[in-house]
Amino acid sequence: MGTTHNRQWRLANRPTGEPTADDFELTVDPIPEPGPKEVLVRTDYLSVDPYMRGRMRESDSYADPWPVGEPMRGRAVGTVVESNHGTFEAGDTVFGNLYWAEYAVVDGTELEPVDTGIAPNSTALHVLGMPGRTAYVGTVDVGRIEPGDTVVVSAAAGAVGSVAGQIARIAGCRVVGITGRDEKADWLTDDLGFDAAINYRTADHLSAAVADACPRGVDCYFENVGGEVSDAVMDRLVDHSRVAVCGKIALYNAEAGDDRLRGPRRLHQRTRTRVEGFIVSDHADRFDHINARLRRWVEDDRLRYRETVTDGIETASDAFLGLFEGTNVGKQLVRIDGE
Ligand code: NDP
Repeated sequence: MGTTHNRQWRLANRPTGEPTADDFELTVDPIPEPGPKEVLVRTDYLSVDPYMRGRMRESDSYADPWPVGEPMRGRAVGTVVESNHGTFEAGDTVFGNLYWAEYAVVDGTELEPVDTGIAPNSTALHVLGMPGRTAYVGTVDVGRIEPGDTVVVSAAAGAVGSVAGQIARIAGCRVVGITGRDEKADWLTDDLGFDAAINYRTADHLSAAVADACPRGVDCYFENVGGEVSDAVMDRLVDHSRVAVCGKIALYNAEAGDDRLRGPRRLHQRTRTRVEGFIVSDHADRFDHINARLRRWVEDDRLRYRETVTDGIETASDAFLGLFEGTNVGKQLVRIDGE
């Protein structure tokens, strides 16, 4: 290890409304020393995720708030540099809740080995990791999809949405994706096998576009966005439909009193719709089963993925902010080159 320096991001402020680059501070600190049972890990890939917006607030999130002034944590895949924990040795590839940093020291019990057998290590942060499991829980367990259902997925070209739509395809559903760019819509239909894709930014009338794409109505809506996209899908729900509320990224920067926080204003009792929010970590008892399925589908090329990668720890805050602009296709990652 030639360097002794560790660049890492700290939360500078708790933003009101849209976060900006000023809410993050990149500091240079000494590389930490691992204590007993601890492991020093060099980060290879850091995941930036929409839920982290909640961690920038004092409360109102299912994840703990990041303390202001402190290094921020995040899921990452890395390489063990030094280990005082019997399970790991230098050179091992591991997954864990590390830091937005080039190096991290964590308790060895918080790390998991990464099986690099069937796909690149980075997939432990998306299709073979938390976003993939979220997609499965939302479609199968919460959305209760059945063959022949029409399933609509919002943020469909993102990490969770792209997997959710493909799982619904595998289950024999008609799948319609909603996204914000034509390039993403093309990826969904041309490469991932979605039956139709709608660009919510350019559609003249979003509700009519959903109706066109879903002639028999919507049986299951995989909700990633909220707001007007959600309204448009609610208009088309059929009898005994299900809404799996995975996330509402369009509302994450809205503060109390913001007009965007109205709704769900077009959900009618006559459709007998079941709306159920879920948090993937509540379904840990299902993970072995889900992981095995995801792995098999990736191996069989039935489940495809894409990554948008920025290079260098200095790009992490911009990569995170880009999630709210839709700059990512597939999973947004930050790659940190080893020496
Ligand atoms: P994505 O990879 O989908 O990235 C976010 C995407 O959201 C962007 O690319 C953009 O795509 C879309 N987006 C951003 N702002 C808006 C907006 N104002 N209106 C409409 N679309 C917008 O992120 P993830 O796959 O990691 O997460 C997707 C959702 O799943 C989030 O809501 C997240 O919070 C939730 N989630 C929930 C979990 C749970 O346990 N319930 C676990 C993991 C994630 P586009 O260009 O198409 O607009």
